[in-house]
Amino acid sequence: MRTNLSVEEALSLVLEGARGELGVEELPLGEAYGRVLAEDLASLVDHPDQDDTAIDGYACREADTLLASPERPVRLRVIGEAPAGKPFLGEVGQGEAVAVYTGAPIPRGADAVIRVEDTRREGAYVLLLAPASPKDIRPKGDDLRRGEVYLRRGDLLTPGRLGLAAAMGHPRVRVYRRPRVGILSTGDEVVEPGEPLPYGGVYNSNAYSLLGLVLEAGGEPVLLGKVPDSPEAVMAKLEEAGHLDLLLTSGGVSMGEYDVVRKVLEEKGEVVFWKVRQQPGGPLLFARLGGLPVLGLPGNPVSSMVTFFLYGRPFLFRLLKRTEPPYGTLKARAETPFRGAKGKKVFRRGVLSLAQGPSVRTTGNQSSGVLRSMAFGNALVVLPPDQDAREGEEVEVIPLTFVP
Ligand code: AMP
Ligand code: MG
Repeated sequence: MRTNLSVEEALSLVLEGARGELGVEELPLGEAYGRVLAEDLASLVDHPDQDDTAIDGYACREADTLLASPERPVRLRVIGEAPAGKPFLGEVGQGEAVAVYTGAPIPRGADAVIRVEDTRREGAYVLLLAPASPKDIRPKGDDLRRGEVYLRRGDLLTPGRLGLAAAMGHPRVRVYRRPRVGILSTGDEVVEPGEPLPYGGVYNSNAYSLLGLVLEAGGEPVLLGKVPDSPEAVMAKLEEAGHLDLLLTSGGVSMGEYDVVRKVLEEKGEVVFWKVRQQPGGPLLFARLGGLPVLGLPGNPVSSMVTFFLYGRPFLFRLLKRTEPPYGTLKARAETPFRGAKGKKVFRRGVLSLAQGPSVRTTGNQSSGVLRSMAFGNALVVLPPDQDAREGEEVEVIPLTFVP
């Protein structure tokens, strides 16, 4: 077992552990939002499927209109119209025009369009107050070309990409099965909300903050409830769980006599590492139990969320072969001081604002037990070991993109 790792060493061991194959399912587009593509998608069509007009106006021959101006309008005979979806099938000759509406194919013979605002209709004729031009014709395939791949394996289906899959003509898509992530809370003091809180008890918040994080990362949470600090109870729950791709436990990985998760995993599994030089989340443990990867998250509500975000979420991204990285960083000006820690990389919770250049202020009390910092903070402020940040200094931040 390795111990006292740097954040980078710990992350690389966790990612090495994400080797499972999820398998693939085919879904109708209407059910695929938020899923991850398991195939490349090429367009089945050209879009537009022929040259069409980007504006409402008239299609005609550019050469007829070159001298048109408000003082000397050019008069063309209107020989028909082409609303979108009802193409004009004739041909536009010299001195002629067809009324066209956005998305309509350009009629044969025409090579330019003019917007309706630059014309005046007079019965069967239209007066052009400016030359018509080809610039508002969208050439065939301007947006999508048949056969070209626009969405790739590992791309998350966002609203725009779901629309794009439809625009390319795909009614169904192959996506990765959502990884099943077990969530097990441990601790004799932990009580489900709704039950009376005994003296010294604490409501099980971790199960629900982790459930949200697992969903947000594209996983399928499997709530396993809570077990007391007893090895038999932990093992019994795991047997009930069925197939899992990852198990999250919370609590019971510290130094204490009652830290049962660590003991069970040491005895029955193989602990890959325990303890990372970071705050919060220092007691993090990563193990395998049979084939099952287990992230033993510390019980403090902030620690369990931050360690899931830094290790569990990248694990799920790797399983899902996601093309985008799990998080990005940016530089921001500290509006308040942030305190570092000796020998540890620190992740403080902050409120990031982009209004006047990125700046970040503390959420207030930074204790690992204060969950409000994760409920209203929208960024982690990263401090290297042994470094404080003074007000006005530039700091590195990780936006928590799922917080508004
Ligand atoms: P532990 O990691 O077991 O030493 O727990 C650290 C702190 O987190 C203690 O104050 C626990 O009461 C608290 N805690 C443990 N599990 C949970 C949970 N599921 N929900 C909320 N707080 C918890
Ligand atoms: Mg405990």
